[in-house]
Amino acid sequence: MAKCPLCGEPLDWGELIEQMLALENAGELLKDRERFMETFRDFVFKCPHCGEEFYGRNLPEKEAEKVFELLNEFKGSVDWEKRKVRLRLNSLLALDTMLEKWDEKMKG
Ligand SMILES: [Zn+2]
Repeated sequence: MAKCPLCGEPLDWGELIEQMLALENAGELLKDRERFMETFRDFVFKCPHCGEEFYGRNLPEKEAEKVFELLNEFKGSVDWEKRKVRLRLNSLLALDTMLEKWDEKMKG
């Protein structure tokens, strides 16, 4: 799970994405994986726990890609009027990891 690179506190992906939703072109970014990932890496996030700032590239990229997929998979995942993420991204990511492990176990 994503953690703040400075204080080590766990971060909520919904909250992180909401910081990106403030970008004017956020709607377009969420439709284009490459542009989203590029912007994500160079985006300056602010940790809600310690208030320090850091680049997106300090966060797990695999999770960011999954978050992109989840946001695109579910209709209405973003409330554009309020610029809020409606999905519980951390729970979905945890579930996804669990299912992957289960799948490996079944195949193994
Ligand atoms: Zn922090």
